[in-house]
Amino acid sequence: MASSILSDCSSACLLPLRRALLPPWAPRLRPCPALAHPRRLLVAARPQLLPRPRRMDSAPAAIASSADSATVSADAPAKVIDGKLVAKQVREEIAVEVTRMKDAIGIVPGLVVILVGSRKDSQTYVRNKKKACEAVGIKSYEVNLPEDSSEEEVIKHIASFNSDPSVHGILVQLPLPRHMNDETILNAVSIEKDVDGFHPLNIGRLAMQGRDPFFVPCTPKGCMELLHRYGVEIKGKRAVVIGRSNIVGMPAALLLQKANATVSIVHSQTKNPEKITRQADIVIAAVGVANLVRENWIKPGATIIDVGINPVDDPESPRCYRLVGDVCYEEASKVAGAITPVPGGVGPMTIAMLLSNTLEAAKRIHKFK
Ligand code: NAP
Repeated sequence: MASSILSDCSSACLLPLRRALLPPWAPRLRPCPALAHPRRLLVAARPQLLPRPRRMDSAPAAIASSADSATVSADAPAKVIDGKLVAKQVREEIAVEVTRMKDAIGIVPGLVVILVGSRKDSQTYVRNKKKACEAVGIKSYEVNLPEDSSEEEVIKHIASFNSDPSVHGILVQLPLPRHMNDETILNAVSIEKDVDGFHPLNIGRLAMQGRDPFFVPCTPKGCMELLHRYGVEIKGKRAVVIGRSNIVGMPAALLLQKANATVSIVHSQTKNPEKITRQADIVIAAVGVANLVRENWIKPGATIIDVGINPVDDPESPRCYRLVGDVCYEEASKVAGAITPVPGGVGPMTIAMLLSNTLEAAKRIHKFK
């Protein structure tokens, strides 16, 4: 059950249940109220900011939404960016498009997920992806290979899906067994079917002026979708991305830059991270350190997208832990203009963006507008 709560990295990376200890040099201010009072973190809803409907590529008109399910902090002025609600909207739009495509040209988008080994958490992620595909009408195929498979065997499967016209997206569930080289395996996926967006050519195109990738990695794409749907202006704004991983931080910074923000990247070696972050109108935090970002890191009115998913001890919870973000929600929501909760913010967007990438792949391959 625990693993079903933990969202994985773009669809591909494992999130181990790690101890959420602040590093020794992390700011030692007051304890984050969310840690001190776990139950105070989220209270039930009053309508907040209504997501601004936006067409996704050639998706149909956005489905009317209700912000009734928004979750807000008791005394927080910050608007809550409701990823659960937006992800639902996105899935509904995708379902409409899948049907339209099937009716018009008889093609159903197909996603194959390759799982090597039998890690329970990876199995759960794969199962969740399969369910999400089925719910919107995308065909999903699953290949389960034994832990001791060779790289050649995995690549042979990838090669056969690269040339299979019923498969439009290929995803290799990470982590792979230790004896395999991720790079070798991921590079074997055709860039036109690389729905995770991890192929170096896709990342390279994302980084270049005047080029567009075939696919954008799912989690950073989900962050951008939240900003767009909530009408957050990006052009000309100062943005800070905390974290520079290949799957979240780095592509998120590239996307913000493509959207004409002035972007700084804060990482583990950055001096005065709070001073730099405090200058930002938009913050994307993708670190993996529970409640690292405190009130004094945040410019009043800033928009905060919290990608982090960190388990922390919570004796009051039936599982004895709960999930918090990289941002101390209770403090940040007093200062920020808008903020994503954890859970219920970026997490639900990742699989929704995988479905979106798969639909996009099928449309591109079949030249369907
Ligand atoms: P990662 O590969 O471990 O990268 C973490 C990044 O944070 C690194 O660039 C690291 O800097 C930086 N960092 C570490 N400690 C720092 C500190 N104290 N101050 C500033 N920067 C620091 O992690 P990831 O895969 O990007 O994931 C980040 C978080 O997002 C995790 O909590 C993960 O669970 C979550 N996540 C959520 C989703 C979702 O769907 N919601 C998807 C993916 C990931 P260096 O480069 O200098 O080491």
